[in-house]
Amino acid sequence: MTATILDGKAFAARIRGEVATHVARLKEEHGITPGLAVVLVGEDPASQVYVRSKGKQTVEVGMASFEHRLDADTSEAELLALVRQLNEDPAVHGILVQLPLPGHLDEDLVINAIDPAKDVDGFHISNVGLLGTGQKAMVPCTPLGCLMMLRDHHGSLSGLDAVVIGRSNIVGKPMASLLLGDSCTVTIAHSRTKDLAEVVRRADIVVAAVGRPQMVPGDWIKPGATVIDVGINRIPAEGDKTRLVGDVDFDSAADVAGAITPVPGGVGPMTIACLLANTVTACCRANGLDEPSGLTA
Ligand code: NAD
Repeated sequence: MTATILDGKAFAARIRGEVATHVARLKEEHGITPGLAVVLVGEDPASQVYVRSKGKQTVEVGMASFEHRLDADTSEAELLALVRQLNEDPAVHGILVQLPLPGHLDEDLVINAIDPAKDVDGFHISNVGLLGTGQKAMVPCTPLGCLMMLRDHHGSLSGLDAVVIGRSNIVGKPMASLLLGDSCTVTIAHSRTKDLAEVVRRADIVVAAVGRPQMVPGDWIKPGATVIDVGINRIPAEGDKTRLVGDVDFDSAADVAGAITPVPGGVGPMTIACLLANTVTACCRANGLDEPSGLTA
C-alpha cells in the first residue's frame, strides 16, 4: 500500500474540539448556548442509532440538545407544527429532521418548512440555491466533511480535476458545487455515464457516493490521486457476520492512490462533526457574531 490514509475519525475529533472551543467562548463572552433540535419520526433502527449518536456528541461539545421523537403515524400537520415551533424557539439554532420520513409524509414540504437559517442539514431549497450560486449557505454535512478533508490534505484544490460519482441531492450535487467553489474542474458521473473507468482515470480527486460495494477498482484510479469514499455498504463476511465497505475497492485503490479515506473511519465520522460545526455557524450568524473560520465552506 502506498496511499496516505486520511483518518476521518481523528479529523472529526479535531473538528469537535474546535466546535467545543467556540461553544465555550459563546457561553463565556456572550451568554449564548448553541442548541440543536433533532426530530425523529418513527422507529427506523438506523435512524435511531444515528439520532442517539448526534444527541450524545451535541452534549459532549457543550451545546444544548433537544430531541423530539414522534410516532410513526404522526400527521404532516403535527410535524409541520413542531417545525414551526422550533423555528420560533430562540434556544434552537439548528433543526434537523431525520430522513427518511415515513411514506405518508412529504419530505420536501417538511424540509422546506424549516427556517433556512436553522437548516443545519443544508437541504432547504434556499440553501441549495445559495450554494449553487456560490453564496453563503448552510452546507450539507457529508460533502462539507469531504471538502474539509480535501483542503486539509491538499491545501489549495484550485485547478485539480475532480470526479464525483453519484448525483444525489444529499452528497453528489452539493459536493460538485463545493469543488467548483474551490476552483476544481468538476465532472459529475452517474448511473448513465459512458465509460466510467475512463472518466475516473482523469481525476486528481475522486469522490465516490454511489452505494455499491467496492465498485471502483484500483485500476480506475490515476496514480497519486486522492480518493474520498463516501459509500457505506454492509456485505457478508465470515460465517454469518457482516462488515462495512465503501464504494471503492480499498486494497487495490490504496496501492495506486496518493491518499484515500477508509470505510469505516473515513468520511463517516465527519458527518456529525460537520453537523455540530454547522450548528455553531448558524448560532453565530443568528446573533450577528463572527463565525468560526475553518468550520464552513
Ligand atoms: P443515492 O442512492 O441517493 O445516489 C446514488 C447515486 O449513484 C445516484 O446519483 C446514481 O446515479 C449513482 N449511481 C448508481 N449506480 C451507479 C453506477 N453503476 N455507476 C455510477 N453511478 C451510479 O445515494 P446517496 O444518498 O448519495 O449515498 C451514496 C452512498 O453514500 C451510500 O452508500 C450512502 O450510504 C453513503 N452515504 C454516506 C454518508 C456518510 O456519512 N458517510 C452520508 C450519506 C450517504
